[in-house]
Amino acid sequence: MKKQTYSKLLLLWLSVSILSLPTILWGQLPPAGEPRWFKGNTHCHSWWSDGDSPPEIVADWYKKNGYHFLVISDHNTLNEGEKWYEPRGKRIERLKIAAKKYEDTYGPDWVKKRVTNNQTQYHLKTLNEYRTLFEEPGKFLLIPGEEITTSSRDGKAVHVNGINLKDTIPPLSGDSILETIQLNANAVFIQQAKTKRPMLAHLNHLHFRYAVSVEDVMMVNGLKFLEMFDDLPSTPNDEKRFSSERAWDILLTKRLAELSLPVIYGIGTDDEHGFAKIGPGFSNPGDRWVMVKAKFLTPTHIIQALDKGDFYSSSGITLEKLSFENNTIKIDIKARPGITYTTQFIGTLKGYDRTVTKIENSPVANLKYKYSSDIGRILDQQTDTHVEYTMTGREIYVRAKISALIKNPNPDQPPKKEVAWIQPVQPFRE
Ligand SMILES: [Zn+2]
Ligand SMILES: [Zn+2]
Repeated sequence: MKKQTYSKLLLLWLSVSILSLPTILWGQLPPAGEPRWFKGNTHCHSWWSDGDSPPEIVADWYKKNGYHFLVISDHNTLNEGEKWYEPRGKRIERLKIAAKKYEDTYGPDWVKKRVTNNQTQYHLKTLNEYRTLFEEPGKFLLIPGEEITTSSRDGKAVHVNGINLKDTIPPLSGDSILETIQLNANAVFIQQAKTKRPMLAHLNHLHFRYAVSVEDVMMVNGLKFLEMFDDLPSTPNDEKRFSSERAWDILLTKRLAELSLPVIYGIGTDDEHGFAKIGPGFSNPGDRWVMVKAKFLTPTHIIQALDKGDFYSSSGITLEKLSFENNTIKIDIKARPGITYTTQFIGTLKGYDRTVTKIENSPVANLKYKYSSDIGRILDQQTDTHVEYTMTGREIYVRAKISALIKNPNPDQPPKKEVAWIQPVQPFRE
């Protein structure tokens, strides 16, 4: 990237970040009105790209499963314009199941199809068309989004979600992975500044094709969201993947303590690609979501709350209360009988060991360096449904992770692990 362009982008980023400066700490909500928790997912797919079902089936599943908001973030499209979809390829059986369900559920008055060269094609409804079937004030909201899907010039995959976009962002490629992430995240920030409409960008699935390393993400200006992907039940285990939690702690420590860059929040999504078949490897919905604390269910309130870190990510655990006041994190877990909840308060203390060692013969291209065990230490562990942590003043940041093992109804199957990730906070400086 040219130096001049870079400094322009830096200026733009600075102006965008100053607008959101009072946002580092969650728990500070406006006194008037009662904020509520809204359940949502910011990353999933439909027939507009490589999902196995039309967007109506996708939206319907989330609405029926207790979600309040959804971003159908197809690859390089905002679900607008003219598109005919033809079920074909390796997944044809699944696509046919979805097509039948689509026709049976919505009927010929809604489903428009044609036959071209002996192949059935379906006319896809745009977001503005299909949202009329699902949206209800205060109950369910569809927010536009795009998975900006690209690669660096040397072919390394980079996927960045742009949420609440007004216009589609054409994917951009840079010379390096860092530059590619930066260019696409900047495209979101530029559109936000131009339209004055709140938007956000999150970096998706670090493990994908082992392309993006922690070091690539470390220096990205303005990026505040990293997708959490550990323990996805619908994705087969892969020993070579490093954990997104470990990456998160390294990023938080380096950015806050050494690079003067903003906090990074861990965003839970399911990256759904399929409904027609359920099981490991089919990227089914519902693995992971966010609970956002906001006063109203509008795109602006949801985006602003996410940007302030007023949310937690979950794969099953629900909270009653969450606050950070007087340097104390307080959490009340919505307990289910017979289940033990373990909360770990994780963080890095000032004066941590900064040693970084290069990993020789790493099994994957995106795992390059080893960082000290001082980074992301368990500072405290409690098993109760009300837990608290008071800052000692030595912490750079503290985040909480709650885990529980849920018995499988089938006794032959292992218990299911559920997790909630609470966003990092930094001690108040008084
Ligand atoms: Zn992706
Ligand atoms: Zn995706």
